[in-house]
Amino acid sequence: EQPLAQPSSPQAAVGWGDIGGLDAVIERLKETIVWPLQHPERFRRLGIRAPRGVLLHGPPGTGKTMLAQAAASEVSASFLAVAIPDLVKGEVGESEKALAAVFAAARRGPSILFLDEIEAIFGAREQAGETGRKLVSQLFLEMDAIPSDARMVILAATNAPAMVDPAILRAGRLDTVIHIPRPDEAGRLDILRRSTRHLRIDDADAVLAWLARRSLSGAEIRAVVRGACYAAIQRGSQTLARPDFAAAAESAIYCDNTAATSLH
Ligand code: ATP
Repeated sequence: EQPLAQPSSPQAAVGWGDIGGLDAVIERLKETIVWPLQHPERFRRLGIRAPRGVLLHGPPGTGKTMLAQAAASEVSASFLAVAIPDLVKGEVGESEKALAAVFAAARRGPSILFLDEIEAIFGAREQAGETGRKLVSQLFLEMDAIPSDARMVILAATNAPAMVDPAILRAGRLDTVIHIPRPDEAGRLDILRRSTRHLRIDDADAVLAWLARRSLSGAEIRAVVRGACYAAIQRGSQTLARPDFAAAAESAIYCDNTAATSLH
């Protein structure tokens, strides 16, 4: 069976430089995540509580997971990720044990504990009655029990902030809330530039500017870039050209429907 918390593999390491269009978010994350992990003593000396956690909210595919991975790799912290819907689906008793185990591992630090789709734990409370309620209160207990000098920061992500119980935003829990929007045109151009750095593209500036006008998310951009690579491979070229991107955007095989429709 798959372990609930998947440690990141070194090959998959992403850094701040891979993330486009989110410079302001990255700066805030440096304050709220990087400083407490690298210099917990500075907070202690000032007599203030180091930030414990951040809630990232915004539409799917905008880079929330990527931000958490980059934060971990930038400070050489271990990255522990839990998909909350998987946790909620677990057997009664098993879910609680798994949650306790992942917090215990994260407390050993330095670590980033990424709780993806955090809203699922509150949805479970409504549906599963007693069991769901127990899981929510255990999550709060685990958060409240983190020693002040523990080198761990919690990053939670959600696409459905309205489902998140505001009790999770109390001091010492997820004390910072950051909105991750869909990228605007400048943001899309930045994502495109970063995700095609290693590629040769004919007339790159014009092609990327043309693509950036389309309303794509970061994940959709990745799908189109990958599709364009396949298109170039198919025609035996080592250089990408505008028709490769156009073909990728039109192909249902290489990208999802949202990307395909928004490109027409
Ligand atoms: P979900 O809510 O669906 O889990 P998410 O917000 O966590 O989505 P990610 O999983 O981080 O999104 O993004 C998926 C992929 O899309 C990333 O691995 C990356 O390739 C690409 N991507 C998304 N946003 C960005 C961005 N801002 N810069 C560069 N690439 C991005």
